[in-house]
Amino acid sequence: MKILIIGAGMAGLSAARLLTQNGHEVTLLDKGRGVGGRMSTRKIELAKADHGAQYFSVKSPEFRLFIDELMAANVISEWQVPQRENIRYIGTTGMNTIPKHLAAPLTVCLNEKAIRIHPQSVETESGNQYDYDVLISTAPIPQAVELFQRSGTTLADADQRVFDSIEYDPCIAVLATLKTPTTIEGGGLLLENQPVAWIADNFQKGISSVPSVTLHASANYSQAHFEGNLQEVGKDLLASVRDWIAPESIEQVQVHRWRYSLARQRYPHSFYKLQHAPIYLAGDAFGIGNVEGAFLSGLEVGKALTNLFN
Ligand SMILES: Cc1cc2nc3c(=O)[nH]c(=O)nc-3n(C[C@H](O)[C@H](O)[C@H](O)COP(=O)(O)OP(=O)(O)OC[C@H]3O[C@@H](n4cnc5c(N)ncnc54)[C@H](O)[C@@H]3O)c2cc1C
Repeated sequence: MKILIIGAGMAGLSAARLLTQNGHEVTLLDKGRGVGGRMSTRKIELAKADHGAQYFSVKSPEFRLFIDELMAANVISEWQVPQRENIRYIGTTGMNTIPKHLAAPLTVCLNEKAIRIHPQSVETESGNQYDYDVLISTAPIPQAVELFQRSGTTLADADQRVFDSIEYDPCIAVLATLKTPTTIEGGGLLLENQPVAWIADNFQKGISSVPSVTLHASANYSQAHFEGNLQEVGKDLLASVRDWIAPESIEQVQVHRWRYSLARQRYPHSFYKLQHAPIYLAGDAFGIGNVEGAFLSGLEVGKALTNLFN
């Protein structure tokens, strides 16, 4: 079976891995320059900073198996995040180490943005055409819906109801290199009722050889300032955490908008199939959310297709 997957984030990669192992011909398309989607790590000269997901936890036995594999391969390590009771996990050299590990044996086409879905193929912005028997989209749902609408894909009322039930929080992220590491104990700090909800010291976290921080604005702040001037927003956010990050220590600053960061309202099942087409939707908007939910969503759609076609 020819299976085409839009999105090489955690969900797309975990689906692709299982389906490839089960003998299907699987191709992943991603519009990004690298794999991982929201599991992103950026370089700013010598510094590194986790940009999207910061760490993850484990609830299910299936994800635990995957964690054991990653630990054995030295892809992840444990992190005792201050203010969190249970151990969390991080990529040993940044969060994108994990999707890179998953993608290594798979067929991934990068810089390939799907712009139109046809009944048996997908057209990309670069003019390429990829055939499929079954299509899985793991793009955030509003982006998938836009693609369906542009393609004239028939959507049933039931499909629309599922899409309408899903909501994401936005997040404004600030990455900054510093002259000296912060004094944040343990390298991470969760804040409540403030413009900044989270600060990570990537040097203390062990992923950056020189001092750098990641700030995530709260959902409320991000919503209110999403369309604002990014440089001003970045200054405002950094000023609000001057107790932990001395202004004179700040060197380079990058500010980024994540329109879809966390899937706040999710569809309760692990994936969804369109009523009138062999098109499946998966990702963190299905099931338990976050990194673990995205991985499990991909795994479950992979299992369902294996049961159907093997
Ligand atoms: C700022 C932030 C902080 C977070 N913090 C945490 C955390 O600490 N812990 C945690 O567990 N989770 C966290 N998350 C959430 C976690 O990162 C996501 O739940 C998870 O990575 C989602 O994986 P996914 O595969 O469902 O989607 P994505 O990672 O978004 O993958 C979808 C992929 O589809 C691609 N795509 C979209 N449209 C197209 C198209 N038309 N053509 C081709 N490719 C396309 C995108 O480029 C992307 O790579 C955070 C997310 C953000 C943004």
